[in-house]
Amino acid sequence: MFERNLLLVISGPSGAGKGTICKALVDKHPESMQCSLSATSREVRPGEIPDKTYYYIGKEKFLSKIEKDQFLEYAEVYGNYYGTLKDEVQRLFSLKADVILEIEMQGALQIREKSKEAILIFIMPPSFKELRARLLRRKRDCEEDIQNRLDKVASELKYIKDYDYIVVNDKLEDAVSKIESIIVAEKCRMDEKTLDIETFIKDI
Ligand code: ADP
Ligand code: 5GP
Repeated sequence: MFERNLLLVISGPSGAGKGTICKALVDKHPESMQCSLSATSREVRPGEIPDKTYYYIGKEKFLSKIEKDQFLEYAEVYGNYYGTLKDEVQRLFSLKADVILEIEMQGALQIREKSKEAILIFIMPPSFKELRARLLRRKRDCEEDIQNRLDKVASELKYIKDYDYIVVNDKLEDAVSKIESIIVAEKCRMDEKTLDIETFIKDI
């Protein structure tokens, strides 16, 4: 009666563990949590699965969707476009789930402007040394790409002040549990729109 579904935005430096945390959350709560699948103009990387990792729609189609106002937010990152489709988020909310957007900071700020109720969580690695080690261990990006991602970290950290919560991803289980606690607290937050007193009073 008093529950509301949440829009959670998860950002942080590349390699901090955003994808790992989001997967762990959805695996633990398959009924109540869903990750929004983004659209991108970039190419499929080895190991990625179309319509599972991203909707790979190419630049022309991406630009046409911008024109048609079909994105909740979008941004250009490392020369490619990435965006959250309005349709996708509506579909996930219709499943009565909390919806997670794993997106970078420019997109997160667009969400903040559109929805005061969105919850912005910044994932921090325990140290810069560990961040580099994780990017190397992931064995996904070439040396040049890893360096580009590390070079961006200082400028990305300037956005921290715009977020509601910071979660340090040292031990994965602890980071997941902190986000679960944030969700519980946010669902208990006083919110007049969802406070269904009328229905409660009818039964008195
Ligand atoms: P992001 O999505 O933020 O770019 P990933 O989720 O891909 O980061 O994680 C980067 C690498 O770090 C992966 O190899 C992942 O297995 C590893 N990783 C994630 N969280 C932890 C953690 N808490 N401790 C150690 N390694 C981690
Ligand atoms: P990658 O190419 O490594 O998968 O993603 C590059 C960056 O794009 C990551 O920082 C990721 O969080 C971000 N990203 C992925 N999807 C979206 C999206 O829908 N919107 C925005 N703004 N960023 C996204």
